[in-house]
Amino acid sequence: MATKPRLPRGRQFFANPGPTNIPDSVLHAVAHVTVDFNDPAFIKVYEKCVAGLKRVLKTEQQIFMYTGSGHAAWEASLVNLFSPGDKIAIIETGHFSQNWAQMAEDLSLQVETIAADWRRGLDFATLRAALAADKTHSIKAVCAVHNETATGMVLPLQQVRAVMNEVGHPALLLSDTISSLGSIDFRMDEWGVDVAVGGSQKGLMLPTGMSFTGVSAKAMEAHQTSRLPKSYFSWTKMLSRPLKSFIGTTPTSLFYGLEESLRLLEEEGLDEVFARHSRLAEAVRRCVRHWSGNAGPQLFSTNPDRNSDTVTSILVPEGHDAEAVRRTALQTFNVSLGGGLGPLGGKVFRIGHLGDLNEPMILGTLSVVEMALKLNGVPHAPGGVAAAMEYLAEAARS
Ligand SMILES: *Cc1c(COP(=O)(O)O)cnc(C)c1O
Repeated sequence: MATKPRLPRGRQFFANPGPTNIPDSVLHAVAHVTVDFNDPAFIKVYEKCVAGLKRVLKTEQQIFMYTGSGHAAWEASLVNLFSPGDKIAIIETGHFSQNWAQMAEDLSLQVETIAADWRRGLDFATLRAALAADKTHSIKAVCAVHNETATGMVLPLQQVRAVMNEVGHPALLLSDTISSLGSIDFRMDEWGVDVAVGGSQKGLMLPTGMSFTGVSAKAMEAHQTSRLPKSYFSWTKMLSRPLKSFIGTTPTSLFYGLEESLRLLEEEGLDEVFARHSRLAEAVRRCVRHWSGNAGPQLFSTNPDRNSDTVTSILVPEGHDAEAVRRTALQTFNVSLGGGLGPLGGKVFRIGHLGDLNEPMILGTLSVVEMALKLNGVPHAPGGVAAAMEYLAEAARS
């Protein structure tokens, strides 16, 4: 063992790409006494939250919510739109796109994968060719993970929509925005997204346990003829409920938290929130690029146009173990990093930089990673943190 575990003291630096840090004011808001979810005072809070969530999604259409993590909203997006044997296309971006595809297959849908290089991201010509080849329009939907949390890459949804329009394909566009919403620009209505899938514990800085879907009028039409079995997730059933969402008890505490997290996002201003994410992300990338000297770790993404501003995946050099770096960071320095998912296990570690985060938190995390590289004998050019500091200091000038 390269390092000795220590008892965790001080505040843990939580640099996972989800769940994320919960701001103190949101924690306090969540600690609310039990209320009747039909109480008019709660319904006011609820309605305020729904309106705020629509502003974050940039939609004026319907929202349905679920007591369940992002997977629940994934499932809701599938069972409410399709019938057994329907074909959908899923753009391959990494582990999360694969899991969404697996869920669709489990639910008896046929999945056509639009293949892509995980380190470069989708080549839009591949999508164009697949849609153009589908003369009978058997593909009912294109599913796209906006921000692939496993690889640290973003997929420009406007371009996905543009290709669908160019080819004149009538498929629905479904987008997973779980690790982008509230951190990276997302515009449901303007980008022609029919179903947007979101969750509570990433950019919205809330505890895990609530997820939601924004649903377009076109998707509501598809819902009318969908025959996949559904009950808890049924949009039709939800519309008959007083709050037009949630079957069963509404998780009221999470709404007091959401009210506060929306207040924080809007007090800072969404554009400022996005700028902060972009700045912290760029600092991380400058640091990693510096480390990559001396045959050190590299950005997993090899496509600068697709780098994610919420999570960076870092590929350790051949023959070294990303998990060992992660273990040292956690057990010796109390910094929690994300691990490599699926086929990237042991090869990649991830720094999450979304949610309630500032410069010292990101610099503290990078310092610990640099120490962990050193302690585990992973080659790197020392001084990455200084490169990040230089960038952040310069960025604070303007
Ligand atoms: C976290 C995440 C999910 C899964 O959400 P859960 O809340 O863990 O069920 C799905 N997609 C993406 C892109 C994610 O980052």
